[in-house]
Amino acid sequence: MQTPPALSEHQTSIISIAALTAKGDLGQLKEACNTGLDAGLPILTIRECIVHTYAYCGFPRSIRGLQSLMEVLEQRKSAGIQDVMGRDASPIRQEGGKYERGKHILNELTKAPQDRPLTGYGVFAPVIDTFLKEHLFADLFERDVLSYTERELVTISVLSAIGHAEPMLRSHFTICLNVGLTPEQLNAFVDVIRATLGESEAQRALGVLNEVLGKGNPATAPAEMTPPHVFPKGEKVVSSHFTGTVWLHMLVNTDTTLYLNAGHVTFAPGARTHWHRHPGGQILLVTSGKGRYQEQGKPVIEIRQGDVIQCNPNVKHWHGAAPDSELSHIAIGPNQDKGPVEWLEAVTEKEYHP
Ligand code: MN
Repeated sequence: MQTPPALSEHQTSIISIAALTAKGDLGQLKEACNTGLDAGLPILTIRECIVHTYAYCGFPRSIRGLQSLMEVLEQRKSAGIQDVMGRDASPIRQEGGKYERGKHILNELTKAPQDRPLTGYGVFAPVIDTFLKEHLFADLFERDVLSYTERELVTISVLSAIGHAEPMLRSHFTICLNVGLTPEQLNAFVDVIRATLGESEAQRALGVLNEVLGKGNPATAPAEMTPPHVFPKGEKVVSSHFTGTVWLHMLVNTDTTLYLNAGHVTFAPGARTHWHRHPGGQILLVTSGKGRYQEQGKPVIEIRQGDVIQCNPNVKHWHGAAPDSELSHIAIGPNQDKGPVEWLEAVTEKEYHP
């Protein structure tokens, strides 16, 4: 059996485009833009990736990147190629000050409270802490054209390309794990860096990644990091009862002693089950990431690592990932002698985004 690639074609293109923008290798960048567009990556997604790079490699590289994308789009238009435009950012909600909003987003990304007093460079140059929180983590991250996962892929690509920014690369690999990327995907990221930039950039990135994953030098691994996947991700599920990509690794098969099964299920960002009922009920133990759960007639609730959901027999419900994060849960199905899952209609976009 062939294992599915760890990163999607779109994610691979985002990495190459960001890395080549940061390097200023405009010839290769144009090729990478063509590859991404050929794979259906929307124009506005590529534009936002290149805009995001400027926070890590400066306006000159970012603007040269945007100019290269414009040239590519012009050539493709002349050649009669119609590319997908995609959607632009939704209007930004203006609740609270920008500094507080940036701090809040940084909290979500790092899973560490940002209310400690400033230290280090933040004390020496408080203004750069303000710029970082207000501008990068509020202004840029609040633009919903890209998911947090995509923004983090852009960030680690730029940091790998420019080099000499190991502490930042280390933090952002950790954030990548927090927003739902797996170690397997981060190793695949290093392979894309190797193919795009070369062996020395790949080796540098791999050295930092191994530290974060606790290989090589465990002393430098962040102490608060929990392993993102205790159980294997398993195989892609081929089923018409899910929206998006879902993986399953069975842990316990039903037998006639316990009449119970258990499986480790992973939903890609945006993926979810159809509405369904379990005649014997179900317990969900969330093992990583962030997601959504809803019982019929009740509001959608956000679920995250450590949450336990008890769903009683025959209650109509659905579960899945958040739009910007993977979700893994162990699904325990007791009382299998009461009958199999009753699958119902798909969860609409409106139900998913209430
Ligand atoms: Mn269920």
